[in-house]
Amino acid sequence: MTPAVFIDRDGTMIQDVGYLSRAADITWYPWTIDAIRLLNRAGFVVCVTTNQGGIGLGHTTEAFVRETHAGMARVLGDAGARVDGWYYCPHHPDAIVPALKIDCACRKPGRGMIDQALADHAIDLAKSFTIGDKAIDVALGTGVGARGILVRTGYGEAQLEKFGGAMPGAAYVADDLMSAVSWILRSS
Ligand SMILES: [Mg+2]
Ligand SMILES: [Zn+2]
Repeated sequence: MTPAVFIDRDGTMIQDVGYLSRAADITWYPWTIDAIRLLNRAGFVVCVTTNQGGIGLGHTTEAFVRETHAGMARVLGDAGARVDGWYYCPHHPDAIVPALKIDCACRKPGRGMIDQALADHAIDLAKSFTIGDKAIDVALGTGVGARGILVRTGYGEAQLEKFGGAMPGAAYVADDLMSAVSWILRSS
């Protein structure tokens, strides 16, 4: 059983541009690849867990999301870093695609994507972490008995303000993904 880190994509690994639908709009934060490489070296299973309701809403396609993740995996691989599992939720309560307008288990803060990762890897949730820029990313972690970390990038700062400066349930509030990873390495 291995500890895992479940990382949100938009606003955490890359800039949140709304509904990403063009490869040209993928902008990595400069520390992301180094942060993931550190987690690889420390022996964590690294998973990406991203709500992509834009698929259901018709702003982007499942093919584009898959291409984006394949492209990101190539960039990571070229730099000696690795994501062990890419998980996305294509559903949305207001989806225009009927099959995707369902009350699914995988839309964060639901735990469905973590359950998918558990099927793929032997993960010790009690020693695992979630990292993301929204309350749902923290709730994803606390909901499964892991520790949730909020980053201030993306929507993080606004989310903190919304909750009066303290994120309920968060084990830590980090400036960005690199500082979240540093904290994980210190506290594991
Ligand atoms: Mg996000
Ligand atoms: Zn879903």
